[in-house]
Amino acid sequence: MGTARCACKDMTIHMNIARQPSKAVPALPDAQTVTDVQHYTDSLFRFRTTRPRSLRFRAGEFVMIGLMGDPDPATGKQKPLLRAYSIASPTWDDELEFYSIKVQNGPLTSKLQHIKPGNSIILRPKPVGTLVHDALLPGKRLWFFASGTGIAPFASLLREPQTYDDYEQIILTHTCRRVAELKYGADLVESIRGDDLLQELLGEGFSEKLTYYPTTTRESSPKMGRITSLLRNGSLFEDLGIDGIDAATDRAMVCGSMSLNTEMKEILEGFGLREGANAAPAEYVVEKAFVG
Ligand SMILES: Cc1cc2nc3c(=O)[nH]c(=O)nc-3n(C[C@H](O)[C@H](O)[C@H](O)COP(=O)(O)OP(=O)(O)OC[C@H]3O[C@@H](n4cnc5c(N)ncnc54)[C@H](O)[C@@H]3O)c2cc1C
Repeated sequence: MGTARCACKDMTIHMNIARQPSKAVPALPDAQTVTDVQHYTDSLFRFRTTRPRSLRFRAGEFVMIGLMGDPDPATGKQKPLLRAYSIASPTWDDELEFYSIKVQNGPLTSKLQHIKPGNSIILRPKPVGTLVHDALLPGKRLWFFASGTGIAPFASLLREPQTYDDYEQIILTHTCRRVAELKYGADLVESIRGDDLLQELLGEGFSEKLTYYPTTTRESSPKMGRITSLLRNGSLFEDLGIDGIDAATDRAMVCGSMSLNTEMKEILEGFGLREGANAAPAEYVVEKAFVG
């Protein structure tokens, strides 16, 4: 059961009643069973797996997951092919959710994109990461800046009661090239707004704390532009009716490409925010959505 670190005991009880128990875990070490797969585009999909009973994690952390690699031509031996993946599900969920890219010649995702319910994946149950509440000092407004699959850790944090307990406002910005690439985030926000259990726990109107700001960079959509440009030219603040980012009350988490992260660090530090870590909480934290 996914009962660890729930902000409220009531939540634990409700979730345990509402969720079906996970299916039996296969005997292979670190193997988990795929329970659901949803494809969004030719380059994005989401999948859910059983959760190891012993896995405790903090919302926003990542684990290593993968499949067995091809047999070595000389020895015939197979080695696990593992990659870092943010856990997209909240800590109270009985299952785990992942949101994945499909890189057509990528060693892992060229295969992973073909998984089906009932298949096994390897999951090393050692969660780590910096996109966690513990790495931020208390504040009033929390920004999640995501591009592409960088929304995955925020999908966990956005379904965590603590996020709404700790902040007065939460703003999710998600930037992708095409409109179809925003669907996972749009569905996520819609499901949170209609989530009876979160509403029962946090009170009616909790979801009014959540502001969703999707943008595209290539395909036409109601809001176009890189988030860094919209921050620099003030358009983001104008759209949201916000004066700006104030280091005394605003906190931020960033997850995107190396170039987005670098530029976001510069922008946030320009507003006086300092980078935090688990051991030294501050005003913002950053993590790479992928290497390369
Ligand atoms: C801390 C961390 C967390 C991560 N979490 C996720 C996650 O939740 N979901 C996810 O899909 N990936 C995530 N990744 C990336 C993931 O580890 C793999 O790179 C990805 O699954 C592709 O694996 P591959 O073996 O097919 O190709 P790789 O050889 O790993 O990558 C090939 C190339 O594809 C591009 N690429 C890889 N991943 C992405 C991506 N996510 N978005 C855009 N381009 C990419 C890069 O240019 C990379 O050089 C994360 C990486 C890190 C470091």
